[in-house]
Amino acid sequence: MSNEPTTTPFAPAAADPAAAADPAAAPVAAPAEAAPGTAATLRAGIDPMSDPASALDSVEATLNSPRTVALALGSNIGNRMELLQGAVDALEDTPGLRVRAVSAVYETDPVGGPEGQRAYLNAVVLARTTLPPRSVLERANAVEDAFSRTREVRWGPRTLDVDILAYEGVVSADPRLTLPHPRAHERAFVLAPWCDVDPEAEIPGHGRVADLLAAVDRTGVHHRPDLELHIPE
Ligand code: ADP
Ligand code: MG
Repeated sequence: MSNEPTTTPFAPAAADPAAAADPAAAPVAAPAEAAPGTAATLRAGIDPMSDPASALDSVEATLNSPRTVALALGSNIGNRMELLQGAVDALEDTPGLRVRAVSAVYETDPVGGPEGQRAYLNAVVLARTTLPPRSVLERANAVEDAFSRTREVRWGPRTLDVDILAYEGVVSADPRLTLPHPRAHERAFVLAPWCDVDPEAEIPGHGRVADLLAAVDRTGVHHRPDLELHIPE
């Protein structure tokens, strides 16, 4: 099953250290067809009260063994499954990042936002990485950009959102990269797929993902057993 965490030892995807230094520059395969008209194991080891920038920097300075990172994927425009699978593929293609598990897919009624918005598909990816948190964010943003181009002249709303939910051992209040993600602990559409891949993950200051999921309202979040993402071979 694609949503079972594996226990194989982490092997960095990057043989080339220069490539690993700039994961955002790694090519992201374009979606086969952009839809027309569309655009942890988190064991806190860093003082949350310390300067957020230095909290991130200290990881960049000391990163020498793989860490677990959880990422949330969301799409509500275009071919949502193609976009989510494209994001999984692009993440797996990232030098220094290895996808270890992919959650089930959930369909989520949109809350707020413009009238007539389509439902979201949401999933969570669990990865091991030797990249520092900021490089993971750069790559996540590059993946979003690659899949958010439309064939229209005007840029539409984003088709794909890739957020970092948590990065092992890092707590950061930096608005450019807040870790853990400030709203993850209260969102059923994040907690449900996260629980699939890492129920024991601790969100510092909030608790275990499985416990948090049990406590939130799951109304509007539907498991879609007919939809399945896979880790590329
Ligand atoms: P949202 O995900 O909240 O809908 P965006 O994807 O447009 O909105 O992200 C807005 C900004 O959030 C990004 O520019 C990014 O720098 C910042 N950000 C802060 N923390 C995180 C995080 N944990 N994961 C992803 N983006 C983050
Ligand atoms: Mg985002």
